[in-house]
Amino acid sequence: MPELRRDLISHRWIITGTQSEEEFFSSLNLKPKEAGVECFFCEGNETKTLPEIYSIRKFDTRPNTPGWQVRVVPSKSAAFKIDGDVGKVGRGIYDMMNNIGAHELIIESPQHIKNICELPPEQILLILKVYQTRLRDLNNDERLRYALIFKNQRPESPLRYGHTHSQLAALPLTPKAVKDELISAKNYFSYKERCLFCDIIRQEQRDKKRIVEENFDYISFVPFATKFPFELSIMPKKHNADFRAESESSLKNLAQILKISLSKISAVLNDPPLNYILHTIPYMRPKPDYWKTIHNDFHWHIEIYPQISEITGFEWGSGYHIQPLLPEICTKLLLAK
Ligand SMILES: [Zn+2]
Ligand SMILES: [Zn+2]
Ligand SMILES: [Zn+2]
Repeated sequence: MPELRRDLISHRWIITGTQSEEEFFSSLNLKPKEAGVECFFCEGNETKTLPEIYSIRKFDTRPNTPGWQVRVVPSKSAAFKIDGDVGKVGRGIYDMMNNIGAHELIIESPQHIKNICELPPEQILLILKVYQTRLRDLNNDERLRYALIFKNQRPESPLRYGHTHSQLAALPLTPKAVKDELISAKNYFSYKERCLFCDIIRQEQRDKKRIVEENFDYISFVPFATKFPFELSIMPKKHNADFRAESESSLKNLAQILKISLSKISAVLNDPPLNYILHTIPYMRPKPDYWKTIHNDFHWHIEIYPQISEITGFEWGSGYHIQPLLPEICTKLLLAK
């Protein structure tokens, strides 16, 4: 029976359970994989990218030469540029702003590996540390308000898009998706005096129907009202609003749960394209009243979205997602892998 469910963080209603497992998998159109051609992200091709911003590399090697483990370079097709002022202007009723910001590519392996979950946990740990380093560094630029880490994983894609990498977009404003979460978390906190995300974790631990993996520091679960089949959330179990503050031992457990979660999705869906995003707190530029409770009410997290279904006119037009497979069935299938 289809159900209508509401997500507590986005307040979005979801229509779910419209298909059985058999109907869902027979409607999927999973693409065959193409072989990679020459890839600019592979070790040995360092001069084919823009000069590196940062890397973890052998101590006796020079920047932009082989010998690295994780490498950060500016995006050639950057949507944002780092020079200039923010310069907000109005044009009639319309608002405009200069596209100040940074767009960086975090190349996650010197080898042509397509899926981050194929990397050993120690390598994933290095990648997570690079996320922290870049987030901390960009905080020094007063013009920037938010840095979003995200991944567009496209294993079927030739060239560099098929080489495992993440991206970082640092922006002169806090994105609406983050603002909506901040407002939702703040409202919940002012009403209940508890963190919304901590409450969700406790509820999932009580229900025991949607948890896919848990370790000492993290929980990975299919949210109660997912927009897409096999969507996952990973949250630290100990309350923390700021990803930059996680310790090395915590990041080790994050690497472990990220690898397992992504491996399970790959196993169920035959290595599908997917996105993940990391939502942490904004850079805390002075703003009266705005940040008073943020360390209590917000809780950083990772959202993972396999890209296997199209967004239809109904979804664009209504803002309601139809998610054919019940979250509990998604969990059952992920647990079996
Ligand atoms: Zn490559
Ligand atoms: Zn919390
Ligand atoms: Zn989020």
